[in-house]
Amino acid sequence: MKNFGYTTKILYKKNNKIEYGSLHKPIYTSVTFRYKKTKELINVFKNKKEGFRYSRQKNPTVSFLEDKISIMENGIETICFSTGMAAIAAIYQGLLNINDHIISSKFLFGNTTNLWNNIKSKGCKISMVDSTNYKNILKNINNKTKIVFVETISNPITQISDLKKIGKICKKYNILYIIDNTITSPYLFNPKKVNANLIINSLTKSIGGHGDSLGGSLTDTGLYNWKNFSNIDKKFKKYNENLWGIKQIRAKSLRDFGASLSAESAHNILIGLETITFRQNKACFNAFSLANMLKNNKNIKKVYYPGLKNHPQNKIAKKLFKNYGNLLSFEFKKNINYYKYLDNLKIPNLATNLGDNRTLILPIAKTIYNEISKKKKKNMGISESLIRVSLGIEDTHDILNDFYNAFNKL
Ligand SMILES: *Cc1c(COP(=O)(O)O)cnc(C)c1O
Repeated sequence: MKNFGYTTKILYKKNNKIEYGSLHKPIYTSVTFRYKKTKELINVFKNKKEGFRYSRQKNPTVSFLEDKISIMENGIETICFSTGMAAIAAIYQGLLNINDHIISSKFLFGNTTNLWNNIKSKGCKISMVDSTNYKNILKNINNKTKIVFVETISNPITQISDLKKIGKICKKYNILYIIDNTITSPYLFNPKKVNANLIINSLTKSIGGHGDSLGGSLTDTGLYNWKNFSNIDKKFKKYNENLWGIKQIRAKSLRDFGASLSAESAHNILIGLETITFRQNKACFNAFSLANMLKNNKNIKKVYYPGLKNHPQNKIAKKLFKNYGNLLSFEFKKNINYYKYLDNLKIPNLATNLGDNRTLILPIAKTIYNEISKKKKKNMGISESLIRVSLGIEDTHDILNDFYNAFNKL
């Protein structure tokens, strides 16, 4: 299996030991699972025997998806959650105590920023830094620092942290390195390559790909020595030490907070992920083509896309990622009526979300950054006319023609 290509790995039947030779794992809607013998039931509850007991904690369809994500991320174990945000919140619920310190990139998905503000008020300390310069990580480490958290390509301005250097720093200081891989997806980038210890994915985005199910995942790459993490409870130390962290998160977050993925959503995501390589190749090609078209247009002030030579981290992206991603943003020159431009477009959908088969377009400042002050937006590089595009898999010439023609109607 090691030498197989990415799609073959995902589809390979050895991973698919499914009842009756079925090619798809059935959707197990059962909440509970019965046993014939009392002893057996007790052994399942004591984790002495493999088995299912209650679907909040473990369900056969969801477990099947967890194993697939582990294959996609080359990890040792994955936990799925009802949303990507639940997977990120699990870090706090499962691993952190009062006064613990996190160093986080300040270029983050908006709701993750909200979550960090939320947990600050519950007693954790957070340093938000410009992680495109690794020195800002180094400068902020103290003896309470438990976690470094970064994204691969940040949304909407597409900054990329020095992922490899940060991995080396975390290893040296035994700090848990967590990467949110959502914008790249496991097909374009495997964070284990840069020594990430936990990998977050919003399954809602490019993995599911069809915009029909919410989901999230957290994968342990097996690279962290959990003996160095002081917040592991004694009861989780009965497992192999590789698994202390993930077992504790499964109990303290998934079991206790209960943001479990449904079997129906797990099924949709399992079908979606089978075609990730095709969808991503096409969507990245569309993004690359559109970025190159827009950068030469007289109405456009700036295009943000890691595949452009003038992108500050173009070299890092080229070295680390299989492709430059399906997300780009651009700014109009002053005096352009961008409402009119957006209304002129026929193919893109005016909608939030990312990584869908359909191209989605969103004016950022007045939608998802609507509650943030003008000054703060300026600080973050979010101008009034910043437009985010998540490219879909539509035919490239149709997309390019549509974006081009909409200029002519201004
Ligand atoms: C969408 C997104 C999330 C949250 O995922 P949901 O499934 O919407 O909860 C987290 N991180 C990134 C980078 C995202 O784009």
